Amino acid sequence: MTSALERLLRYVTIDTRADDASPTSPSTPGQLVLMELLALELRALGLDDVALDAHGYLMATLPASSSRTGVPVIGFIAHVDTSPEMSGAGVRPIVHRQYDGADLVLPDDPSAVLRAGDDPALAARVGDDIVTASGSTLLGADDKAGVAEIMAAVEYLVVHPGIPHGVVRIAFTPDEEIGRGADHFDVQRFGAMCAYTLDGGGRGELEYESFSADLFTVTFRGFNTHPGYAKGRMVNAIRAAADFVASLPRSEMTPETTAGHEGFVHPYGASGGVDQTTVKVLIRDFMTGELGTKRALLEHLAREAAAAHPGCHAETAVTEQYRNMREVLDRHPDVIERAREAMRRVGIEPVERPIRGGTDGSRLSFMGLPTPNLFAGEHNFHSRLEWVSAQDMDKAVEVIVELCRAWELTGDN
Ligand SMILES: [Zn+2]
Repeated sequence: MTSALERLLRYVTIDTRADDASPTSPSTPGQLVLMELLALELRALGLDDVALDAHGYLMATLPASSSRTGVPVIGFIAHVDTSPEMSGAGVRPIVHRQYDGADLVLPDDPSAVLRAGDDPALAARVGDDIVTASGSTLLGADDKAGVAEIMAAVEYLVVHPGIPHGVVRIAFTPDEEIGRGADHFDVQRFGAMCAYTLDGGGRGELEYESFSADLFTVTFRGFNTHPGYAKGRMVNAIRAAADFVASLPRSEMTPETTAGHEGFVHPYGASGGVDQTTVKVLIRDFMTGELGTKRALLEHLAREAAAAHPGCHAETAVTEQYRNMREVLDRHPDVIERAREAMRRVGIEPVERPIRGGTDGSRLSFMGLPTPNLFAGEHNFHSRLEWVSAQDMDKAVEVIVELCRAWELTGDN
C-alpha cells in the first residue's frame, strides 16, 4: 500500500510551474513529465483507457466493482501545475513528524517561519505529520496533494475489490493556475455525470459556490503633442484614467473591505500614456445579476472621468470570465449531498464556504460537468510557507473512497 504522503513527496520534486507567457498546452514541459509518470502508475494499477491527450490532459478509468446497474459514473480531478508566482524548481519537501506546535523554521531561509500562533489551521493540526518545503520554493501541495490523494484512493480501491463502486473516471489537468485548466477538458470524453476536484484547504472544506466574474476594460483616448507647445491642445488620457480610479468605491466594494458573500470591483492593472491609457477592473459578485449593476457603475464613472477632460473619450468593454457554479449545482443537489454524506461517514463535519475566486470546477460545471471542490489539506497556497498535513491527506483519501461507495448505493439492485 502506498500512502498519499509517499506519493506527494515524489510528485513535488518535479517542477511543474505553469507559465502564462507560453502559448502551448501544457504551458511547461515539466507538467508532461509528471503526467507521464502518473500515466505509468495508473497503468501499473491496472486502470483502463489511460490516455494522455495532445493538450496534456490525462484521463483513466477505474472499472466498476459493483454488480448494480444504473450506478452513475463519477469523476475525480486534480491539477498538476503549480503557481507561476513562486519557484517550484528543486523543491525539498520536509516531513515534520508529530508536529509539536513549536515554530517551524525552514532551513533554506531562516526568515521563513511557520508559527502556530499566527495560523489557527496549523495550531489545529498539532500531533499531525506536517509537510513543508525548505524555505526557498513553494511546496506544490496545491495541487499535488489532490493528485496524490486521488492516486492513493484509486490504489486503495484496486487493492480492496470488495468495496462496491461504479465506474470511476480520473482526470489530471494542466495549467489551472493560469486559468486554462478547463480550456481543453473534453467533458464528452470524460463521460461522468459529475466530478469532484480535490483542490481545497483544510479538513472538511466543501465548496460549490464561486464568484461570478467579468473583466471590465476602459481605454481613455486623449491627444498627445509636444508638452512645450501643448497649450489648449493636449488631452492627457493619464489624468482621465487617474480620475476614474480615484472615483471608484473605496470604503466598500473593494477586495480590501469585503469578505464572505460580498462582491467588489478591483482595478488591478493600468498601462498607457498621454495619448491613451487603459485600466483593467475585475468585477466579482456571487449574484451574476449584480455584475450588470457593477458594470453600469463603472461605465458611468468612466464617462464622467472622460467628460471632465474635454476631447477625451472612454471606450469600455466587458469580457465574461466565469460564473458561480452554484447556478449549476443547485440543479444537482445530490452531488453536494453525497459529498456531505461521505465526509460524515469518515467523521468530518463539512465546512461549506463560498470561494472568493473561481476554480476549474466553475467552468467545468457550466461545460456540463457539475464539479464542486473538496478539501485536499492545502494551506498557504502559492507561498514559501505552504504546508499540508499527512493526516488530512489520508482523510481526503477516505472521503474519495466513501464517495464512490455512496454513489454506488444509488444504483439499482
Ligand atoms: Zn489549486
